[in-house]
Amino acid sequence: MSKERYQQNRARVFEIYGNQCGVCGSSNNLTTHHIVRKSEGGGDEMSNLYPLCREDHDYIERLIDSKEPPKQKVIYQRKHKKHKKHKRR
Ligand SMILES: [Zn+2]
Repeated sequence: MSKERYQQNRARVFEIYGNQCGVCGSSNNLTTHHIVRKSEGGGDEMSNLYPLCREDHDYIERLIDSKEPPKQKVIYQRKHKKHKKHKRR
């Protein structure tokens, strides 16, 4: 996949998550996490990208590196998505 395409997908994923970390909702120090690492065959498609702040990225990378969890993928949860109700005027 071309670099351009990756940039597009990355921007789109960030947009979907509101430019926030998908774990803690922080908008600082955002990085793009590859859910399946490129070294393990992961690609740059949107389904493989996930916005994470540096802290959570480090945490998840460590989690993946540790051999304890039997799963290949970490299951991510969004805690922060609160649906705002429309205010009545
Ligand atoms: Zn975070």
